[in-house]
Amino acid sequence: MDIEDIEPRLRESNMDNNFKEEKDRGFLLFAREDPAHRPVAERVKDYSAVELPPEEDMIRRQAARCMDCGVPFCHSASSGCPLGNIMPEFNEAAHAGRWREALEVLLSTNCFPEFTGRVCPAPCESACVLGINDDPVAIRPIELEIIEKAWQCGYMKPHPPKERKKEKVAVLGSGPAGLACAEVLNRCGWRVTVYETDVGPGGILRYGIPDFKLEKWVIDRRIDLMKAEGVVFECAVKGGEDVSGRYLKGRFDAIVIAGGARRPRDLDVPGRDLEGIHMAMDYLTAQNKRIAGEPIGDCDITAADKRVVVIGGGDTGSDCIGTALRQGAGSVTQIEILPKPPERRTPERPWPLWPGTLRVSSSHKEGARRRWSVSTKAFKGDSHGRVKALECVEVEWEKTEAGPRISEKPGSRHTTEADLVLLAMGFTGPGENTLVEDLDIKRDAQGFIARDENFMTNHPGLFVSGDMWRGASLVVHAIADGVRCAEKVDDYLEKTNSFSRLRLKKN
Ligand SMILES: Cc1cc2nc3c(=O)[nH]c(=O)nc-3n(C[C@H](O)[C@H](O)[C@H](O)COP(=O)(O)OP(=O)(O)OC[C@H]3O[C@@H](n4cnc5c(N)ncnc54)[C@H](O)[C@@H]3O)c2cc1C
Ligand code: SF4
Repeated sequence: MDIEDIEPRLRESNMDNNFKEEKDRGFLLFAREDPAHRPVAERVKDYSAVELPPEEDMIRRQAARCMDCGVPFCHSASSGCPLGNIMPEFNEAAHAGRWREALEVLLSTNCFPEFTGRVCPAPCESACVLGINDDPVAIRPIELEIIEKAWQCGYMKPHPPKERKKEKVAVLGSGPAGLACAEVLNRCGWRVTVYETDVGPGGILRYGIPDFKLEKWVIDRRIDLMKAEGVVFECAVKGGEDVSGRYLKGRFDAIVIAGGARRPRDLDVPGRDLEGIHMAMDYLTAQNKRIAGEPIGDCDITAADKRVVVIGGGDTGSDCIGTALRQGAGSVTQIEILPKPPERRTPERPWPLWPGTLRVSSSHKEGARRRWSVSTKAFKGDSHGRVKALECVEVEWEKTEAGPRISEKPGSRHTTEADLVLLAMGFTGPGENTLVEDLDIKRDAQGFIARDENFMTNHPGLFVSGDMWRGASLVVHAIADGVRCAEKVDDYLEKTNSFSRLRLKKN
């Protein structure tokens, strides 16, 4: 579609008599609407996106619901959007059909709205003032519509920097943090090379998040644009091994390491070494690679015809459910040790805080059984050493002054049958990393990479960004951290104004 086809129609609709009333009283006229999902029976047969593109009118109605509050809590990085997206302004422009203006506002704070518009849990919405006594504005779909319209209309053209500087920056890791950092530094004119261990760029966007939430052409489209703007990508290259720390130090004026935090939390109970018990990320990565036609290696796990138990009630667990159902699992059960969250906000989590309420993903609606307050005591196997059941117990949670206390419910021991168990209990840190080890980069007490207020590690000119520093988090936090890290690198390069190569301290 071309902008010429769209703009006149929008201008016409701007003349609509209801337009001003909508803008002033939209929050009274319209209810919250969310984009529709493909029917369950259809979507579980493939890995294509579950969410359908929203109707433009629906987006305009949602944008009209924005009250343009005096203090927009949605926009504040502390209560709402970690990127500080300026919702009142892009909502007004979107409602009026001024899509280019909406895009400019959106891109002024968010370099990858096509990622956040698809996978962000939208903390901005839980901070929306309308959410105090009504449903909040559906901000995430508005964001997605603005950026997708921009791609359709040809607004997303390469804008290489007008002036190229001499200094070079290496970014190690191409997850959302590394990509955001590379994007900003390239726009500042520095010469950026992104090194990535995996075959394709994107980090968890490509190898963790399933295609039914984020189709991978969305990442390819952005990488093509970044390449056209001058960012160099070197994939299947491991920093600290294929390119040594010494090589990087000698060749680049600054280095950013954005290697993520992928060491999974394990479950150390009897029977853990049985066949058929896998880490969720191994399982999800295998499926994403299968779809992409990439070699899977020895990690060819499938849920077909199996009774699947997912341990861990978070987003990763939910992604395992959707994947297992698509692979033809016989049944899927998700168990979580924590109690079932409340369905509505409680006084302990007042607005505008993240409400911590029960989240029901599209995968949950596809047929999984969910159980809370269940702890796994042991895995049981068959005579071939394959898992066949979990020994579980129900637990009770009690609030005490010293914090929550957990106890086993008497007489609640039970067995849950399983042929495939997926461990999705979160991530404990970056774990071993060849570049960190090679350069002896300092870690904090928890094993994360330590940095100072300038995002710099113990090596001058060597910065860290994303989950590797903050711990496993969200795409929006990784992008925000990547942008802020790039600003620090930019300051550093400007200040040192080094025309010679950076000389990092040798250890
Ligand atoms: C299964 C799953 C689903 C998720 N779903 C969502 C979601 O729906 N919404 C959301 O907001 N968040 C989600 N998250 C969280 C989110 O994806 C992460 O917080 C985010 O990707 C972190 O970004 P990052 O750039 O710091 O690290 P990563 O995305 O982990 O990227 C790090 C990259 O660095 C590379 N690397 C590491 N070491 C080296 C080295 N030495 N040399 C070269 N390259 C290296 C790795 O190969 C990797 O590609 C999910 C996480 C998981 C695991
Ligand atoms: S990035 Fe996330 S928090 Fe920020 S505006 Fe978009 S949906 Fe909301």
